[in-house]
Amino acid sequence: MLKTDGRRAFSLLKEIAFERLGGTVEEKRAANILADVLRGLDLEPEISEFDIWAYEPTRATLEVLEPYQKEYPVEVYGLTGSTLPDGLEADFFYAEDADEVSLSEAKGKVVLLNQGVALKRYRRMAEAEIAGFVAWGGLIYRREDIPRWAIRPEYFKHGKIPGAIIFADEAAELVQEEASKVRLTVLQDEREVASQNVICEIRGCEKPEEVVVITAHYDSVPYSSGANDNGAGSVIIMELARHFTKNPPRRTLRFIWCGAEELGLRGSFAYVQEHEEDLGECKFVLNVDVAGAILGKNRTIVTGPDALKHYVEVMSRSMGVAMAIKQDVYSSDSVPFAEKDIPSLNLIRMGAPIHNRHDRVEYLSPNRLEELGDFALRFLNDIDQAKVFLFEREIPEGVKKKLAKYLKRMRGEDEDREQDE
Ligand SMILES: [Zn+2]
Repeated sequence: MLKTDGRRAFSLLKEIAFERLGGTVEEKRAANILADVLRGLDLEPEISEFDIWAYEPTRATLEVLEPYQKEYPVEVYGLTGSTLPDGLEADFFYAEDADEVSLSEAKGKVVLLNQGVALKRYRRMAEAEIAGFVAWGGLIYRREDIPRWAIRPEYFKHGKIPGAIIFADEAAELVQEEASKVRLTVLQDEREVASQNVICEIRGCEKPEEVVVITAHYDSVPYSSGANDNGAGSVIIMELARHFTKNPPRRTLRFIWCGAEELGLRGSFAYVQEHEEDLGECKFVLNVDVAGAILGKNRTIVTGPDALKHYVEVMSRSMGVAMAIKQDVYSSDSVPFAEKDIPSLNLIRMGAPIHNRHDRVEYLSPNRLEELGDFALRFLNDIDQAKVFLFEREIPEGVKKKLAKYLKRMRGEDEDREQDE
């Protein structure tokens, strides 16, 4: 029977619902929990390591020296380098979005910025030779956590600009009180550490040379238990793996629980890089990222041919599962495969909080996990059982263009210097 078990999935979800930042011992612990479940199914998971950049904050302070004196709590902006141990004393001003005008007299100064630092903005700041920056994050009307943001290795070519992050309401105070001189201290230890993918294959008994890849990332962002994003996807694909251990597939199913997705799809990029030669056999990717919301809606993002989109439309009607379907790129582990012209389907249930401390199991339910799990299972089973592969291994031109744009922006290769990210 084509059925997943929402309650079983939910209980595994509770086991892995703790902060699992890429490259940390907690992420590794989650990888081991998933691998243990797979071993319990008589499968042989492989834990495949890859390197990522990580940082350990040592100290971060922002002191206003003029026209008043006050010290503010700040967080280190990850991987942006360090100031001298005594800090960096400099003029201070509010550069909003770090646009050309705001940065025109910024050389040697510490600037306050709106929100995070996109790659283009970082490049402009480097070109303006600013000495340091403070980005504000969170909500001005409710104090929660100071975000813990970091730049990605793609930024490194523009050099290090020590940065910190401050509460929105305190940023407003800095602007309102016209802080003009500050001492910014940012100290952090940056190094390469290992993250890991958990890979597990169920070999096809009739067409083993045709491989279908099933992905879900299992890492989380800071402060978050990552239940919704994406413990839920991780346990849904575990249900799929369970089904096919009892019902041997015709084609080869390769499950990948990806590490360090939140740090820039590191796990899936590492996999694709390492398996460059055998990607030809890979026909299709099914990715589940964000699921289980009690209140929400199902979405499918098809990075593939029209026929695939129509197939999901028909399935949604036939199963009575409401599903908003779009051909597009989804910022998740299907992207590195799409870059290699491998089509994919992304299953999502949006609605519950993500990327903050409210991403918790309380807002998810076994029933909603089961609904999307059953949908994924029926779809995967159709793909697997088909006499001839259900659709062509192709991505339409329109979607390819969107993908190229996405990748360019991610890598900072976009030559359009006017627009911000
Ligand atoms: Zn995610």
